[in-house]
Amino acid sequence: MIEVEKILSQYFEVYSDKETLEKYSIDYGYLSPLLSSIRKIPKAVIKIKDEEEIRALMELINEYHFPIIVRGSGSNTLGETIPIKEGTIIVDITGFKGFERRSNYLITRPGSEFNEIGIEDLPTIPTSFYMATIGGYVAGGSLGFGSLRNGAVWDNVKEVEVYTPKGFFSLSGDDVYSVVQSAGTTGIISKIKMRTVKRQGKVKVIRRSFTSLVNAIDFSLKILDDAEFISIRNKQMAELIEPNRKWDKWNVIAGVYGEGEEASLKDLITTFAGTYFTAVNKTKVNYNSLDIPLEKLNYIEGMKAMISCELSKSRNKLFSHTYFLGYDKLPEIEGYSFNLHSYKVNDRVEADRLKKMIDFKRKVDEDDLLNPGKLVFQ
Ligand SMILES: Cc1cc2nc3c(=O)[nH]c(=O)nc-3n(C[C@H](O)[C@H](O)[C@H](O)COP(=O)(O)OP(=O)(O)OC[C@H]3O[C@@H](n4cnc5c(N)ncnc54)[C@H](O)[C@@H]3O)c2cc1C
Repeated sequence: MIEVEKILSQYFEVYSDKETLEKYSIDYGYLSPLLSSIRKIPKAVIKIKDEEEIRALMELINEYHFPIIVRGSGSNTLGETIPIKEGTIIVDITGFKGFERRSNYLITRPGSEFNEIGIEDLPTIPTSFYMATIGGYVAGGSLGFGSLRNGAVWDNVKEVEVYTPKGFFSLSGDDVYSVVQSAGTTGIISKIKMRTVKRQGKVKVIRRSFTSLVNAIDFSLKILDDAEFISIRNKQMAELIEPNRKWDKWNVIAGVYGEGEEASLKDLITTFAGTYFTAVNKTKVNYNSLDIPLEKLNYIEGMKAMISCELSKSRNKLFSHTYFLGYDKLPEIEGYSFNLHSYKVNDRVEADRLKKMIDFKRKVDEDDLLNPGKLVFQ
């Protein structure tokens, strides 16, 4: 046993058998050949179940300077929990659970799973709700079902508490940007306060087909106020996802408050929103994504690829979170790249939020011990 494991074993249960280390060396980033090629086997795994243990761990990190990665369910697809530095200790936080609802808010510990919390009143819900933790979504997620009306994860987290090598912080307002979507590089989240919402009723599904993308976009804008989600898919993508229906060149699949086909909320989320993971798993083709302002979206009209445009809002700006599968070349549009093959937080976060993360990282973890290498800050 090396020294760090010996020290940790005085405070925590330490797992270092081959099978456990192998399991914790990879996450759903396995989908990307690039991301899976970078992994190192971690040194050991520990499990944390309360705030006291996070505090104790931080003291040990300060004293012995070893790198850690906090891990929820490991369902992120960006290699966020894949170790890239030798000697990494994985901190499994799935046992740190507990939540309560107060008027219009959810207050929760990071290890609570969506399935335990219940999803009906959450403003944004990842397609992976059936396996993800809320802490993992806040630290690593971005958009989800509900983001068209309620914005991204960072628009809905009102307060977040974190432990860092430089102490405890309770962050609110724009300061939550230092932690949300930073992939655990700026602290271990111990508590989250998230806004809850009241949905207007049952969401029904409608499908409309069009011969041009411009017409599909126009229709989407018309139903925007009544919609909970809108996906615009080209024929190839629509056929892959729902092969038994008839599709035209461009198709709008939307969840609306009004007339439409009945579906349960869970089915709506897993079947309709954010289906790229399932589609790539099925086809094994290359894939990536771009966030494109709606006024530029029609530039992709003639592109040869399977395309799905998930209309979303972040900080009140409407855009298309656009997936391209089986493409030759990504379009050169003045959009925002959300690189699905980069383990670096820098390759998916806009400049002003990234600055918040980097400033905070410099203040609390200048030795880069929290998920090292994932946030470039020097
Ligand atoms: C089928 C599928 C569908 C998906 N759909 C969506 C979607 O709709 N929207 C979306 O945004 N994402 C989606 N994802 C990816 C998504 O980000 C995750 O599923 C989820 O948000 C991560 O939760 P997790 O508990 O698995 O976290 P993990 O994967 O374990 O961790 C994610 C990141 O958070 C960090 N982290 C975890 N807990 C803490 C903590 N307490 N403190 C600090 N850092 C922490 C980790 O270090 C890591 O960097 C999907 C993935 C799959 C496989």
